[in-house]
Amino acid sequence: MIRRAFLVVCLALLTVSLRAQSPASTGWSANIAEVRQVATLIPGRKPLRINVLKFAESHRTKNFSVKGEAATPSVQARTVFQVVYPDGTVMVDAGMDVAMHKQIGRGAEGEPYFPQQAQEVDKALRAARAIIFTHEHGDHVTGVIRTPYLAELAPKTILTWAQVTTLETRPQFPDLKITEEEAQRYHIIDYDRYMAFAPGWTLIKAAGHTPGSQMMFITLESGREYLLIGDTAWHMDSVRKNVGKDAPWITEDTAAVNAQLTWLNGLYNSEKNLVIVASHDDDEHKELIAKKLLGGKLE
Ligand SMILES: [Zn+2]
Repeated sequence: MIRRAFLVVCLALLTVSLRAQSPASTGWSANIAEVRQVATLIPGRKPLRINVLKFAESHRTKNFSVKGEAATPSVQARTVFQVVYPDGTVMVDAGMDVAMHKQIGRGAEGEPYFPQQAQEVDKALRAARAIIFTHEHGDHVTGVIRTPYLAELAPKTILTWAQVTTLETRPQFPDLKITEEEAQRYHIIDYDRYMAFAPGWTLIKAAGHTPGSQMMFITLESGREYLLIGDTAWHMDSVRKNVGKDAPWITEDTAAVNAQLTWLNGLYNSEKNLVIVASHDDDEHKELIAKKLLGGKLE
């Protein structure tokens, strides 16, 4: 009898420990109820609006962004986002200079780069209270790695430990590489699954597209919710169809990205107050600007 009770307790403990491990051992997962709860942890007024600005374009046919799509022309917008609080702004991603534009994608083949918009990005970065990143690729981080304003921007630039590790050890391009000493100029954070970042704002760890990828759940003062998903999907059709990229030049953790797309697809179909925003989906940004769900310029 005692033996049997002991066995039951052991089995119960085993179940608990397996459950505790399951997100890590069976792949990526997230829970929107938990994400929402974490977004309430930091007191203060929530953001008023979110702006997007396109500073360059990449022209790739749709089949690269969404596997199985026809090879029809498609514009990938290179963008930054500005989250506007009543008392300051936070930038999500920092853009890149024209030299990185020429290195990345097909910039060298004459893909458009908009110098005036790039200047507006620099202005907004300098005016921001903080700068944070969806991931550590060149089109998102170069604006704080190689910038004449480094001394000014670095102390308010928040990189995750995973992002810094990639930049130190295996950056997308050799000239994005930073030393451990250079990394110390930035503000480096680490967290497990979710982190309360600011009023209304939860960071969601989402290694997949890159080791340092994270999504950002943001609730506005109006109650409208946003999920900035970075490059988890290049086009929202990836989320709508639950189909990933087909781009041989990228090295993703496909299983993790697929789990993320499945989660996003479920949210897309059930959460009507949630606006899911992909960093590079030019079609989507135009539509959201027209509906006034995103602002079309930085302020
Ligand atoms: Zn990107």
